[in-house]
Amino acid sequence: MRIFEQLESKVRGYVRSFPVIFESSKGATMTDETGREYIDFFAGAGTLNYGHNNQAINDALMAYLQKDGVVHGLDMATTAKKEFLTKFSETILEPRNMEYKVQFTGPTGTNSVESAIKLARMIKGRSNIVAFTNAYHGLTMGSLAITGNTFYRDEAHISRSNVSFLPFDGYMDDQFDSLAYFRKLLEDGSSGLDLPSAVIVETIQAEGGINVASVEWLRGLAQLCYEFDILLIIDDIQVGNGRSGDFFSFEEAGIKPDMVTLSKSIGAGLPLALLLIRSDLDQWKPGEHTGTFRGNNLAFVASTEALAYWDTLELSNAVRHKSDILKAELEKIAEKYPSLHADVRGRGLIYGLEVKELGLSSQISERCFENGLIIELAGADDQVIKFLPPLIIDEEKLLKGIAIVDQSIGEILE
Ligand code: PMP
Repeated sequence: MRIFEQLESKVRGYVRSFPVIFESSKGATMTDETGREYIDFFAGAGTLNYGHNNQAINDALMAYLQKDGVVHGLDMATTAKKEFLTKFSETILEPRNMEYKVQFTGPTGTNSVESAIKLARMIKGRSNIVAFTNAYHGLTMGSLAITGNTFYRDEAHISRSNVSFLPFDGYMDDQFDSLAYFRKLLEDGSSGLDLPSAVIVETIQAEGGINVASVEWLRGLAQLCYEFDILLIIDDIQVGNGRSGDFFSFEEAGIKPDMVTLSKSIGAGLPLALLLIRSDLDQWKPGEHTGTFRGNNLAFVASTEALAYWDTLELSNAVRHKSDILKAELEKIAEKYPSLHADVRGRGLIYGLEVKELGLSSQISERCFENGLIIELAGADDQVIKFLPPLIIDEEKLLKGIAIVDQSIGEILE
């Protein structure tokens, strides 16, 4: 069913294929124009970690607008920018001993990725970038070239020169040591691998199917980068901002990347993308990498308010607690429906239920929607049902959403 049927004869909407028009949203719930409510396990693909229309964030935005705060400031200094930088520095960077410069790269995630790979090439004077199987880094030219899934790029004939793909942790069988393989390629002058300027990696591949890199693998990768003078870029656009339970997804591994891309929930629902650059590496000249919408002041206001969640460990602890619930419930579902041959994997509040039979996951997500749950799919063949609720979801709603998945699978398999 085409949702903007009449409109689309005149303009193209390219809307996501949920068969309703949404009108309002609050917390972990979205409501369509007929008044029907849906639990949201999609959270704007990780943009709404603090929930839809979070009251404190809305109040801060309202107060800012009421005092005629600068909305568009181009790249000028504004109070909203100053307050954001102060809060980000004091709440996030300083307690973690992270010395990074913050570059505002644009409104959306891919802008940060583009900045990161451009800067890496400039710093090292080498063009090759290593990315991993199933990676997703965005859909503009540079980020698309380092995205795995052919669906996004083949027909556009994206140039992939100066990009090398290596197996992500767990891509091959358990016996295969992907880091030993990488090391061998780097050491062997006949391997065909040009020494990369940077390696870019997601600690948990989200769009790629909820593939979780182990802490050991991440540490090994960081060590390899260090030994071979390669920059390590962590793409924390989807699984940063608390999704893993820590603010940054790589904290548990105790590694310090050279650059970190952040977007989605850093703007608490408003468009904002950042690149964190290890302070000693920054070498942009003024104006060398710029654009009109870099640093949206309303996003700064929203973000500054949202970062208050990180003043204490409350949110982190809550994410870990709800993560345990989610994992246990999904394992129960996998056990209850053996014919699914389901695999459960994830960390924090991002989990995947991989269903082996092609097409079944789409049927399940569609049935979930009919039953009142917004849930999306991930993986090269959309074979993974992706659980990504707002971090602030209450336990009752989390369990209700999971129960809808259980019920929907039951209905489809019966
Ligand atoms: N990197 C990762 C890990 C992502 O998940 C995404 C978006 N799904 C992007 C980059 C690109 O972000 P955007 O869609 O905002 O350009």
